[in-house]
Amino acid sequence: MRTAAMIATERPAALVILGHPVAQSLSPVFQSAAMRAAGIDCAYTHRDVPPDTLDAVLAECAAARMGGNITMPHKNAVAERAARLSDVARRAGAVNTFWFERGALVGHNTDVDGARASIDALAPARGHDRVVLLGAGGAAGAVLLALESLGLSKVVLASRTLARAQALLACVGTAGIALSTEDPQLDEWLATASLVINATPLGMKDDAFPIALDRLGRDTAVFDLVYRRGGTAWMRAAREAGHWAEDGLRMLVEQGAAAFTCWFGVSPDRQVMWDALESAPPPTRAR
Ligand code: NAP
Repeated sequence: MRTAAMIATERPAALVILGHPVAQSLSPVFQSAAMRAAGIDCAYTHRDVPPDTLDAVLAECAAARMGGNITMPHKNAVAERAARLSDVARRAGAVNTFWFERGALVGHNTDVDGARASIDALAPARGHDRVVLLGAGGAAGAVLLALESLGLSKVVLASRTLARAQALLACVGTAGIALSTEDPQLDEWLATASLVINATPLGMKDDAFPIALDRLGRDTAVFDLVYRRGGTAWMRAAREAGHWAEDGLRMLVEQGAAAFTCWFGVSPDRQVMWDALESAPPPTRAR
């Protein structure tokens, strides 16, 4: 389950993040700072990849022995194309970290490490027992695996498209109950959950809340995968209302730190990563 077990046998010659759009990604900023601090001479660039060009771009990356990260909308497509997948990438059906070994594409998913670090940071003394996870996309798959690794099985996966939540639980093969976000049962789960997690993009572009705070219990902790400079509106409001709350920044740093370890076999200086994010221009959209 932990990234440390996945280390590239061939260090990438250069790094790239592939997505569409991708210019907003902060990964090149904080990874470049961490590489400089570690004395690693390696470029990290963005590349905008419209879906119909993905195969050609991956072939170019293979020829140049490049590694890197994958972001929306390519995480599932790269998992389908990888010659070798880590167990977590296979179960999540999504790759966010890749490299090549003897020309073969290797895919891993360090969003699991990132989500686990944030959930750990939010654990109250008694730990979490009941969790509501909103959204059923690639990031939700990684969160489900992080919850499983923490021994949490009372999980409700709530999505506006019920079939997508059901399919994700089946793909990941983990315990959980799929509900539509319109299902009246969701209210009781929200009121009694120890942790509510947003894995939808709501709140990324504006101050929309994925769920109204008055539907949560008084002691419910809040984890928003979305991040914005100064914190998302949902996270800030949750803190003001007395909830333990985190946005997606820690997850961003921790998934990046785990990916760095995969590529280079050493851990990065996380403080350097945090400092680089602090001084980066404001993101227009999350990674
Ligand atoms: P995704 O694969 O596109 O899935 C998005 C999920 O959110 C789907 O279940 C979708 O439902 C739902 N959704 C989308 N718009 C919605 C709306 N207006 N109302 C209700 N539900 C909505 O995206 P993803 O890759 O899982 O990413 C989700 C979020 O996590 C993004 O904001 C991303 O930036 C963030 N993320 C953060 C990190 C980090 O390091 N902090 C890492 C990964 C992802 P339908 O199926 O009905 O469309």
